[in-house]
Amino acid sequence: MVMMKPHIVLLPCPAMGHVTPMLQLANRLVLMHHCHVTFLHFTAEDDHRPHHLMNLPSSVTVLPLPLVDISALTTCDTPLFSRHCISVRETLLRSLKPTLLQHLQQTPQAFITDMFCTQALETCAQLAIPSYILFTTSALFLSFSLFFRDSADKPSGEFLQLPGGCKPLIIRTADLPLKYNLDDEWYRYHINRMPKASGILLNTFEELEPEPLRAIGENSFYKEIDTPPIFPIGPLVKETEPVCGSREECIMNWLDKQPSGSVVLVAFGSLGRLCAEQISELAWGLELSQQRFLWVARAEEEKDLPEGFAERTRGTGMVVDSWVPQVRVLGHVSTGAFLSHCGWNSVMESVCNGVPLIAWPLHADQMMNATMIAEEIGVAMKVKVFGREEIGRVVRGVMEGEEGKTVKERVKEVKESALKSLAKGGSSYETLDSLMLQCRKQI
Ligand code: UDP
Ligand code: UDP
Repeated sequence: MVMMKPHIVLLPCPAMGHVTPMLQLANRLVLMHHCHVTFLHFTAEDDHRPHHLMNLPSSVTVLPLPLVDISALTTCDTPLFSRHCISVRETLLRSLKPTLLQHLQQTPQAFITDMFCTQALETCAQLAIPSYILFTTSALFLSFSLFFRDSADKPSGEFLQLPGGCKPLIIRTADLPLKYNLDDEWYRYHINRMPKASGILLNTFEELEPEPLRAIGENSFYKEIDTPPIFPIGPLVKETEPVCGSREECIMNWLDKQPSGSVVLVAFGSLGRLCAEQISELAWGLELSQQRFLWVARAEEEKDLPEGFAERTRGTGMVVDSWVPQVRVLGHVSTGAFLSHCGWNSVMESVCNGVPLIAWPLHADQMMNATMIAEEIGVAMKVKVFGREEIGRVVRGVMEGEEGKTVKERVKEVKESALKSLAKGGSSYETLDSLMLQCRKQI
């Protein structure tokens, strides 16, 4: 008997931290779960397979959605980002339904949309397509978002208690998003719409976040607010990454020449920016740590480096402009630690490569991510007070100290459990497989 392939449509939000896990999901669905995948992507022009989509299996159908306003596509600042979100919304409202009607001969078995593109849920309902959301950060952040979606007040007190599984989930109020995400109408809008989906896929895994997952899955509170079933299917992390152009080759060549486990990667994601004071303290901190480093800074940040920094660190440190192939660098034998803003993708990539983290969160979900990976999971040390001495101490501690040893051992264990969860018989593999089995039954 020939098994029919389920047809799954994927819609990522056009931001680096959101496209990457969706691409990985596409790969997984095609290569391991025998699905046919259509990948929708927002685009400026009629460019059917831009650079970052090149690694998709050739059987994936790529469908462009024309963006209404592309000026903010690669932006870093939040007002522009909001405009970008408006453009995404307009595009979805205007083009999604006609695009699907024009290109899909038969009704797909599932539509998986990014957490920030929930406008697609209505379109799916109109076309009778079962719809799912991909939540691109931690299960802990999902539980927090669901708990606070109806509340406008910032909680007071040092700790916050969320409905838990075996025990309540405790969050520090100091770790809540600075702007308090749920004051943000657009974030609240998307979280409020989650009950419309048939399920929420999460870029995490059972063994990494057992308590938050149990809470959302089992605590009656989440059922009462109509939280759909959750599917932890992560980590959704790139397995390989090309080295593009001579600049990136030069970076990899430099790494090749460094001793094993000796280099600290310093990077703050696709949106993170430091102010002049932070740049200066970080630079002094790295010098004080006496460790080798590869620092991804933006061109405009480099002017804030202390005088003589480049000369003093020549040979042991490298400051590179704006971008490195991060997964490639984390997988390099010379990389020993990752000083990161703790964007969820960066956390997952570090863990999957067995690299301990030095957590310096900046905004949004990152403070909660940082505390969880340092205090609950034990794969990171946190920079607790802002300043050069503390940065130097923590960096050195992870690379050379006793506490660093524990963190390094723990991250190797977590890496193993991540790999196990993704292999046949593992929790994430089986969760995704059973979801695809449901889809197959609908053909
Ligand atoms: N953002 C925001 N409010 C939110 C969520 C995000 O203002 O509730 C901003 C955030 O500050 C960031 C941008 O939107 O600049 C990207 O959001 P995302 O959740 O993708 O953050 P990331 O994890 O990628 O840093
Ligand atoms: N990234 C990269 N090179 C860089 C900086 C970031 O490849 O120099 C990638 C990184 O590997 C990750 C994504 O960009 O996949 C950033 O996502 P994350 O959730 O960590 O942070 P965000 O950019 O959303 O704040």
